[in-house]
Amino acid sequence: MSMNNSLPVAIIGAGPVGLAAAAHLKIRNQPFILFESGSSVASNILSWKHISVFSPWRYNIDKAARQLLNETHWQAPDDEGLPSGAELYNQYFKPLADLPEIKTRIHLESKVLAVGRKNMDKMKTWGREKVPYSIQVLHADKIEQYEAKAIIDASGTWSSPNPIGSGGSYAVGEIENSKQIFYGIPDILNHHTKLYKNKSVVVVGSGHSSINAILELDKLKEKYPSTEIHWVLRKKNVSDVYGGQEDDSLEARGALGIKIEQLINDDRVNVYTPFQIQQIINKEDKLTIIGLQDGNKFALPWIDEIISNTGSRPDFSFLREVRLSIDPSLESVAEIAELIDPNIHSCGTVRPHGEKELRHPDKDFYIVGSKSYGRAPTFLMATGYEQVRSIVAAIDGDMEAARNIELDLPETGVCSSDGGGAACCGVQLKPKEKTNASCCL
Ligand SMILES: Cc1cc2nc3c(=O)[nH]c(=O)nc-3n(C[C@H](O)[C@H](O)[C@H](O)COP(=O)(O)OP(=O)(O)OC[C@H]3O[C@@H](n4cnc5c(N)ncnc54)[C@H](O)[C@@H]3O)c2cc1C
Repeated sequence: MSMNNSLPVAIIGAGPVGLAAAAHLKIRNQPFILFESGSSVASNILSWKHISVFSPWRYNIDKAARQLLNETHWQAPDDEGLPSGAELYNQYFKPLADLPEIKTRIHLESKVLAVGRKNMDKMKTWGREKVPYSIQVLHADKIEQYEAKAIIDASGTWSSPNPIGSGGSYAVGEIENSKQIFYGIPDILNHHTKLYKNKSVVVVGSGHSSINAILELDKLKEKYPSTEIHWVLRKKNVSDVYGGQEDDSLEARGALGIKIEQLINDDRVNVYTPFQIQQIINKEDKLTIIGLQDGNKFALPWIDEIISNTGSRPDFSFLREVRLSIDPSLESVAEIAELIDPNIHSCGTVRPHGEKELRHPDKDFYIVGSKSYGRAPTFLMATGYEQVRSIVAAIDGDMEAARNIELDLPETGVCSSDGGGAACCGVQLKPKEKTNASCCL
């Protein structure tokens, strides 16, 4: 590297991938500093701590982190177990963040507000690579300034949920009625029961979070039979969300699809598809959702609460001074867009990639983790662990290790597609066979 090597690498965000980056940097003896806006590490995952993930422990623990934890009295969880968000935190993220060599480098309640080259705006090119990064951080009402030789942005997308409006913008009336909209994953069976019992609830979205919400609302309905469940999807057919079911190599993910199909067949959920939400009207706290169903004007009245699970999007606002290379449609890192584009395939698995594919025009700057996928929803923690392993190797000058990508991801068992590309997806390829295929990766 061309600049002062004693400067730290700055990591933004202490989610699973930011923490894994810290572990890799520690093992390679690279100085680092980690800024986390929340009051604890893994704060996004803690917001859905009651939910169980579908990938077993062996995919959820980064190798460098495991190596560091194995040097302590840490009890490794059972490789095949499926942890909840709370268990992920208690048994992995917290012990990792509490390691003395990591803990002292983490700054909690420290939100990164701006990143750029020191004293050099985005337009200046000459000598740019030799200038350190400068980072502005909001901590306890004060803005602090730090310098770094490289940046790893692992800030995720969870804090910028998509609106429910069909065009990607807010529906008319959405902002005004946001107190009746929960963006994220409420704890329906415990903490938030009061909000939903015996109410008319609409779930918007077609991913696993929506399916989870509907399954929990159905459990609530068993106890509180006046609870009404409505499900609004943009997809053409509800069967498109059933997934790989028995063919999914993550059994728990497949099981979600099986359960939801059962509920629909038993008529326990009112499904509206394809539905495009345009407007929300409020009369005495009862909402009417107005939109197009199958192209025709449609109104869904007498709604008390909306749960929105329409995905999330990256926040680039604090990267205004960084020269980025972002895909114009997915908002992912440009180079990996074709590997993950849901318009082409929905396989959920992705060709192994690392430092080379994650570069930006500004050298030594990387976006990793779920933010690297932009708006694409298929990110798995294991993908992020391999990204940061490769990037940290490159920062350490070990280009051979950086290039040598190894990623073993579970298959979804479904390679359906709305657009082209489906034809070649009928065959299940083993991860090792996939490097040259053009879809189903
Ligand atoms: C219900 C559910 C189930 C899931 N199941 C699985 C599963 O089975 N397997 C799997 O692999 N993945 C699963 N995922 C996905 C997985 O949780 C995410 O991919 C993962 O959390 C992404 O990690 P990340 O480190 O990139 O980002 P995040 O976990 O989002 O972490 C980002 C961190 O950055 C912080 N931050 C944000 N902005 C700033 C800022 N400006 N300054 C400082 N800090 C900031 C946030 O507070 C947060 O702590 C699931 C997700 C959900 C919602």
